Amino acid sequence: MDSAETDWVSRFADDVIAEAERRAPGRPIVCASGLSPSGPIHLGNLREVMTPHLVADEIRRRGRECVHLLSWDDYDRFRRVPAGIDPSWAEHIGKPLTSVPAPPGSPHANWAEHFKSPMIEALAGLGVEVHGISQTQQYTSGAYREQILTAVRERARIDAVLSRYRTKQASGQASEPEDYFPYKPYCDLCERDLTTVTAYDDETTELAYTCECGFGETVRLAEHDRGKLVWKVDWPMRWAHEGVIFEPSGVDHHSPGSAWIVGGQIVGEVFGGQQPIGPMYAFVGITGMAKMSSSKGDVPTPSDALAIMEAPVLRWLYARRKPAQSFKIAFDQEIQRLYDEWDALGRKVAAGQAQPAELAAYNRAVHAAAGPLPATPHPVAYRTLASVADITTGHAEQTLRILSDLDGVESLDAARPRLDRAQRWVDDHVPADQRTRVRETPDQELLDSLGAGEREGLRLLADGLDDWTLEGLTALVYGVPKLQAGLPADAKATPELKTAQRAFFALLYRLLVGRDTGPRLPTLLMAVGAGRVRKLVGA
Ligand SMILES: [Zn+2]
Repeated sequence: MDSAETDWVSRFADDVIAEAERRAPGRPIVCASGLSPSGPIHLGNLREVMTPHLVADEIRRRGRECVHLLSWDDYDRFRRVPAGIDPSWAEHIGKPLTSVPAPPGSPHANWAEHFKSPMIEALAGLGVEVHGISQTQQYTSGAYREQILTAVRERARIDAVLSRYRTKQASGQASEPEDYFPYKPYCDLCERDLTTVTAYDDETTELAYTCECGFGETVRLAEHDRGKLVWKVDWPMRWAHEGVIFEPSGVDHHSPGSAWIVGGQIVGEVFGGQQPIGPMYAFVGITGMAKMSSSKGDVPTPSDALAIMEAPVLRWLYARRKPAQSFKIAFDQEIQRLYDEWDALGRKVAAGQAQPAELAAYNRAVHAAAGPLPATPHPVAYRTLASVADITTGHAEQTLRILSDLDGVESLDAARPRLDRAQRWVDDHVPADQRTRVRETPDQELLDSLGAGEREGLRLLADGLDDWTLEGLTALVYGVPKLQAGLPADAKATPELKTAQRAFFALLYRLLVGRDTGPRLPTLLMAVGAGRVRKLVGA
């Protein structure tokens, strides 16, 4: 398949393939992402993986071999104890994340594994194929030994690069060049990185360090596998070591003196490699989760998003926006509008009317190079499913009856997984005061207070419930006020008629659910069922 240059993914794939031809002809193309399992992996960080995924996926679609490395920064130090974790975990601050015990009750071997696991599961659910690399495994196996020795030998050169970005103020506080050391040993006794390198011999590679715990020793760096390069050196080292051609990064990495900018110089001057093609990606915001997360004391994760939306919809959010464009992922009512937009695009695609860029984003959403993402065989509108889930409180038999009446759904499985996502959204994200509760018994006081016209309207409604379809019920609720005004069923709406219809709808909501508003009335009537509607309207 040749490039049609239809969207941002295609354009990056073109650039990456061309660059790979120049740098490493005939070799598999390397795209990369990096994540820190220092705590729950925030949904906002998913862009770090989705951006190279989409590009790698496009490269694979074109029949080229491409590997997407996911570097787990699990050899980084444990920095702080997050909210909700026993304060005694503070004793582990300074240890590698893989040396910190997992939170209590976790089935995982250590802190890093505990937080990696749900992300790995979410990526699999999203059809994202990655080759995970544990930096603990890499460093402790000596995989970077040559690179570490190079960085230490070239420490004055690295320091010179860093000094180009030091402001006058900062340089006053900065260490002298001869003191700069790009490698940090983890203490052999307490495992923490509270160490200071006190001497280094370039000839023998003998390195002496002391630790705040009181321990100190001399090791040979050429044999030492319990330490790591500092971040601004570690990142460019890996670009060179892995031959990364494409790796995006967040906006926070792009200020002067930041890791991306500094790394771009260190990778060539020290490691003889090249910086990847690396777009800066914009922030992804979350709406409607704030209240939940502060009360639960944790953060929204990709798994939380996949609990309320299908994988293709979440993929689509990333595919349709260029990396530099920010967007929001909705956990509030906005998700219903998002799904309306998604379904409208699906209809456009089916009708052959989608624009090339829309079509490209749609295809990337529903299908990865490895195969199609799970789809819902009978996709009823998300807002309808949410209403049904709300009204039935998840009762399976009622749900099937309503969906069958509404849209001819033959089994709940045909409506899944979308049905389950809508159910979960209602359960977890619709505030209690917005939930719909169908009355058990008629509101006798309200019924007794009604005038003759209102009673007649309710009787006309009850008599018309025989046409038990969405269209029939829609015609009925709009038609009753017309009939009462002596108008034909196809009468055009006048301001007077609209007022009468609004009053009639409000009366029905009060009688059925005890509020002035609720789910769309035809859907609500269908959900409540004809017998119960007749009872509640007193007819
Ligand atoms: Zn120590």
